[in-house]
Amino acid sequence: MDHFNAASFRLAFPAIRSTTVFLDSAATALKPVAMISASNNYYSLSGSSVYRGQSSESLKLTRDFEQGRIRAAKFINAPCEKNIIWTRGTTESINLIAQSYFRSVLQPGDEIIVSEIEHHSNLLPWIMLAQQTGAKVIKWPVENDLTLNIDVLKSKLSPKCKVVAITQMSNVTGYQPDLLAITQLVHQVGARIVVDGAQGVVHNPLDVTELNIDFYVFSAHKLYGPTGLGVCYGKMELLEQMPPWHGGGKMLTEVTFEHFTPAPIPQRFEAGTPNIAGVIAFSSVLEWLETIDLSSAEAYTRSLVEHANSKLSSLPGFIAYSAPHSPLLSFNFQGIHHSDLGVLLTEQNIALRYGQHCAQPLMDALKVSGCLRISMMPYNSLQDIDTFIDAVTFSLSLLND
Ligand code: PLP
Repeated sequence: MDHFNAASFRLAFPAIRSTTVFLDSAATALKPVAMISASNNYYSLSGSSVYRGQSSESLKLTRDFEQGRIRAAKFINAPCEKNIIWTRGTTESINLIAQSYFRSVLQPGDEIIVSEIEHHSNLLPWIMLAQQTGAKVIKWPVENDLTLNIDVLKSKLSPKCKVVAITQMSNVTGYQPDLLAITQLVHQVGARIVVDGAQGVVHNPLDVTELNIDFYVFSAHKLYGPTGLGVCYGKMELLEQMPPWHGGGKMLTEVTFEHFTPAPIPQRFEAGTPNIAGVIAFSSVLEWLETIDLSSAEAYTRSLVEHANSKLSSLPGFIAYSAPHSPLLSFNFQGIHHSDLGVLLTEQNIALRYGQHCAQPLMDALKVSGCLRISMMPYNSLQDIDTFIDAVTFSLSLLND
């Protein structure tokens, strides 16, 4: 593993050379050369399908495709690559789990506990499931200090609860709940835990086996990978209880007009031609990440956030909504609408996010209509932050005029 060097790491990202200061990595990360080359090579040099051809090219691609699954399993310490289902992203993974595992498990009156800090992707699939089954969605409310209180969860858990849906890291506050403690409590009442790793996997890769997590999901595109690709990890005994969700090619071993036999796990959940280029490109990302000192890279990112936080805090009216040591910073300025400041920053080529961040219940709890968010990766620099701070200072001077 190479010692982390911020300058050379930055060079691996061609898009960073644009004139925009990119501070929106929590929406999607920039892509390294390793990913871009693997994707280009697939489209320009091969282009065969996987599991569908007998040519040596197709057989090789199938092996490369499965190598991606092995690498994804290793990245989160899943017991085996068969625990990994490829999906289109976090959103599709949660919908798969809700519909394929929980739809047949839930009875009217059962409870689904969802925290108030969830992204809509980890709320809507549960609301829809509740409407379909007669189960109830129970809110685990956020505290005034933007954390979640485990005693509150304890008071809500009962044998009626069948699932707790929780993020590994809030996409607004950067808060990371104590997943070990939560999982133990959830299992005590016989319920299952579904963890949304969309943000957390990037900054704090976890060990699904050690934490005893039932289902864990994330999107490749936030972890330097391609869009349109996601991972759904499930414990084998749970995947074995799940009927196929989508029907189509290669998710079966034999079919008549009356009957079909599902293919083995995980292929039974991957109907249709998969995202071949995406998996191969993401596999290259995971291979490349093995050469990076991820904890030094993360420490560097956090130092950038600290720098931004201390500069912003010195500006009058600054209101922060971020957890301590968060890799992202959400904020407002007293008396200024987030959109007004957001538009001015965008005009100065600062790429950041402003609005509700697909977390409307959390915005309601914060009693704001929205806020701004900057999020960083190790390809950012101090210069990026200083340019951003100058842009904020200039914008505030206009808005407070
Ligand atoms: N969960 C969290 C915490 C997120 O931040 C996001 C995306 O921003 C998602 C889920 C949804 O991810 P995707 O749109 O890649 O499915």
